[in-house]
Amino acid sequence: MAVSMWDKLADRLHAQSVAALYLHIPFCKSKCFYCDFSSWATTTGDPVMKHYTKALMQQVDELAAAGFLDSCETAYIGGGTPTLLGEGLFSLAAQVRSVCLQLHEFSSEANPESLTPDLAGLLADGGVTRLSLGVQSFVDAELAALGRIHTSEHARAAIRSAADAKLDVSLDFMCAIPEQTDESWKESLEQFLACGIDHVSVYPLQIEENTVFGQRYEERDPAWHDQDIQAARMLQAQKQLAEAGFERYEVASYARNDKACQHNRAYWTTKPYLGLGTSAASMLTHEGYERFCQLAPQLERAPHDTARVRLVCMSSREAIARGASLAELDFELEFLSKTEAAAEDLMLAARTIAGITDELYEHAGSCIDKGRLEQSFETLLKDGLLERREAAYIPTERGWLVGNELYGALWGLASED
Ligand code: SF4
Repeated sequence: MAVSMWDKLADRLHAQSVAALYLHIPFCKSKCFYCDFSSWATTTGDPVMKHYTKALMQQVDELAAAGFLDSCETAYIGGGTPTLLGEGLFSLAAQVRSVCLQLHEFSSEANPESLTPDLAGLLADGGVTRLSLGVQSFVDAELAALGRIHTSEHARAAIRSAADAKLDVSLDFMCAIPEQTDESWKESLEQFLACGIDHVSVYPLQIEENTVFGQRYEERDPAWHDQDIQAARMLQAQKQLAEAGFERYEVASYARNDKACQHNRAYWTTKPYLGLGTSAASMLTHEGYERFCQLAPQLERAPHDTARVRLVCMSSREAIARGASLAELDFELEFLSKTEAAAEDLMLAARTIAGITDELYEHAGSCIDKGRLEQSFETLLKDGLLERREAAYIPTERGWLVGNELYGALWGLASED
C-alpha cells in the first residue's frame, strides 16, 4: 500500500533515531566583533580542544552503540572554527564516518586562515564531502572592520584547497556591514560567481548584545545597520545569483546543480536531529527522547502529551573536555505538545521556497484550532507575507525581509488561546 504524504507527516513524530548529527566545536583563534555564537578564543595547542574533541568522539560511540545513528543521513561539524582542531578534525570526521553508515552528506565549517591544502585533503580522506567556508566578504577593509582575521587572499587560497581536495564548497557572506557599499557588495558577489562554486549563504549582519559591536553601538545604530540597506543588498544578491542560475531555496541559502545543503533541509523539515557539544541543540520525537534517556538517565521524563522535545546542551566546554559521557551532561529541555510541534512545522517551512504545502497545512489543522489557523493565514496573505502558489503557501520576498513577523505569527499558533 502506498504511504500517503499525510502518513509521512504523522510518522515523523514517531521516529526513534535521528536523521542528522551536529557536532559543535566552540573554539576560534580570536573573537569577531559581531559574534555571539558559542565560541571562545584560544590557541592551536590548547589541551582543552584536544580533550573536548576526544569526549565528543566518545559520545558519538555511545550513540552509535545504542543504534541511535543507524539512519543518520547527514552530519555537520560546526563552530566556532572546526579547522582550528587541525588533525583532530580528521580523527573526529573519520570516526563519525565509520559509525554513520547511511551518511550521504558530511559537512564541516572552515575558516580561511586555518584551512591548509593538507587539512582539506585529510578531511576528504576522513569522509567529509562538503566544506562551508566563512568568507563573509572579498574586500579586505570590510573583513578587518568585522574583526575577521583572514584576508581575501586567504579566502581564495582556501577555496582552491577545498576544490583540489574535490570537496563541495559553500561560502558564507554578510551584507549591510561596515565599510560596505552597494558597489563593493556587487563586487564580492561577482568574485564569488567567478569561483564557480554552487552554494552560498547570504545574511544581513545583526548587532547582538554582548559583542564588541553590541557595546560599540549601544547608544545608536550605525548608518550601515539599516533595514532598507539590508533589504536592498539581499535583493541585489538574489538578482545576481538568479542570473547565474542559483535558486534561493531558503531565506539565506542559494544553490545550483543540485547542491542544496541536505543537513540544513533536515532542520527545516523537522526531521529529528542530535547535537553534541556545548550549546548544541537537538530535536527528538517523544519516542526518540525516551530512547535517548536510556543513555542519559539524568534527564526528566517527558509529560505524556509530548510530541517533540528540544534539548540544548548546557555543559561547558571544560566540563565536556573532562571526558563527560552522555549521562554526565546538563541539558535544557523544552517539551512541545502536538499543537506546538505543528506550529513549529509551519514556522520552519516558511523559511523555505517550498513553503507550507497543503498537506502540511491540513496536518496542522488536525492539531491547531481550524478557525485560528484560517484567520492567521488570511491575515498573512492579506499582509503580503505569504502567497498562494501551486498548492502551497509560499513566503513572499517581503515575508522573508520581515521574517520575524512571519515566523512569529506562525509560532503564535502554538498558544492555546
Ligand atoms: S570565526 Fe565565526 S564563530 Fe569564530 S568568532 Fe568569528 S564569527 Fe564567531
